Amino acid sequence: MHDYHAHSVYSDGSNLRRMLDAATEAGLDGVGFADHCTLTRDPQWRRQRNRYARNFDRTYDRRRAVLSSLRADYDVDIYDAVEVDYEPGLEERIRSFLDEAGFDYALGSVHYVGEYSVFSFQDFSTPDTPSPEVMVADYYETVASLVESELFNVAAHVDVVEAHPQLTGLRTPDQIERVADAFTRSRTIPEVNAKRVGRSGGPDFHPSGDLLDALVDRGVPFTLGTDAHDPSEYDVRSNALSRFCAAHDLEVVSPFDVPPRRQSADERPQAAE
Ligand SMILES: [Zn+2]
Ligand SMILES: [Zn+2]
Repeated sequence: MHDYHAHSVYSDGSNLRRMLDAATEAGLDGVGFADHCTLTRDPQWRRQRNRYARNFDRTYDRRRAVLSSLRADYDVDIYDAVEVDYEPGLEERIRSFLDEAGFDYALGSVHYVGEYSVFSFQDFSTPDTPSPEVMVADYYETVASLVESELFNVAAHVDVVEAHPQLTGLRTPDQIERVADAFTRSRTIPEVNAKRVGRSGGPDFHPSGDLLDALVDRGVPFTLGTDAHDPSEYDVRSNALSRFCAAHDLEVVSPFDVPPRRQSADERPQAAE
């Protein structure tokens, strides 16, 4: 099995050699390192970029050199990738960075919408924040834009808001359809993300429930991501991913197997009456 989503010290993960030792121990055949990169111009998220080392655009060449030398020591495929924060309006900046850097593949993620984070430390119960329903609607619209941007090989953890106790269960059938239809028309592949395995609250995997079903119904394939930040996470998450994919009979592809652009129902030639 190949895992296409892990983090190293070049963002908020662990030492590359320790990660690779653990990946080998877990029986993985390939590991992709996709460190965080925020290219935003927004002052609030610029501060986060500086505080939490989400400045991989400044350091990717150093990690690339380390990965090149480590390849000689490991019997696993090692991929040089990135996880970019997607933000509407930033497409050209993201595109030119990805063109310049030439990663093996790129993951795109929605970690914040406007000034609000999607993670559970963000409280949506105060009067100065949007209602949970509005936040969820904005989140899924942003995910659909990410998919339609065609910037990324992979869309990471596409329903991450389901892990937020104030946001879970609020999405509507229209929002699910909007996101699932965007994937059927795009070359971007959704990821089965195992970062919630073993944690309480929320689904074990993203995407979950009716969004997973909608993607499967439309014949959309998936890539796999442990989203490991620590070596100890590989074993349990990669085993859980294998079981989950087998149980749901998912079509698993690599980020390089870009599927042909599929047509939506309304683009297909209509049968003659
Ligand atoms: Zn992420
Ligand atoms: Zn990640």
